[in-house]
Amino acid sequence: MLTRRDMLRATAAGATVLAVPGLVPAADKKGFTLPKLPYGYDALEPVIDTETMTIHHTKHHQAYVDNLNKALGAAPDWLGKPIEEVVANYKKLPEAVQTAVRNNGGGHLNHTWFWNWMAKPGTGGEPKGDLAKALDDSFGGLDGFKKAFTAAATGRFGSGWAWLVVGGKDGKPLAITSSPNQDNPITDGKTAVLGIDVWEHAYYLKYKNARPKYVEAWFGVINWDTVADLYAKAKKG
Ligand code: MN
Repeated sequence: MLTRRDMLRATAAGATVLAVPGLVPAADKKGFTLPKLPYGYDALEPVIDTETMTIHHTKHHQAYVDNLNKALGAAPDWLGKPIEEVVANYKKLPEAVQTAVRNNGGGHLNHTWFWNWMAKPGTGGEPKGDLAKALDDSFGGLDGFKKAFTAAATGRFGSGWAWLVVGGKDGKPLAITSSPNQDNPITDGKTAVLGIDVWEHAYYLKYKNARPKYVEAWFGVINWDTVADLYAKAKKG
């Protein structure tokens, strides 16, 4: 049976391992795993259909996880790092694996966040408090935010993401950006509090080529409570 002292020692050892990933023995490194969705595959119907959610999670996200683990076989110490740290610092990796980690590490991070940015229609709340004020100050309100976010999401050529990030021009609290492929703003030192996947695999089965219709419907599944939490944490630093 574990005593309280054993548990404290285990916690301390865990903290050491996290702080100095290089000390983790290779045998302990299992690598990254596919996180469970916070809801069922049908939860976002009719905005996102069950088949799209199932393929997106079990095939696309799983492939990013598998390929990330494979790429980091060349730098196994990195398998013990938080995924945010991996994506923020991938340029410090051996050059031969940078592109694979950029794409698949970004894919793992982006999708892990994406699932949590969505909620069953009608349950995601709406912006309030500090977040509502920040949207007002940055975009003149929720409608202004939607307009600018839609422009970024539909204007991104090819595959990529549109983001709501902390810190805008002229001291504005928030800004909207977009990125190609699986790039995440964290690599440029920016914190995203919301993002939409505009790869065709995210919407094609239901919306076909009509990305603007997908983006418009997607506003109905945003989990604003999660966005507000992330914004509060980002402001605290
Ligand atoms: Mn995707």
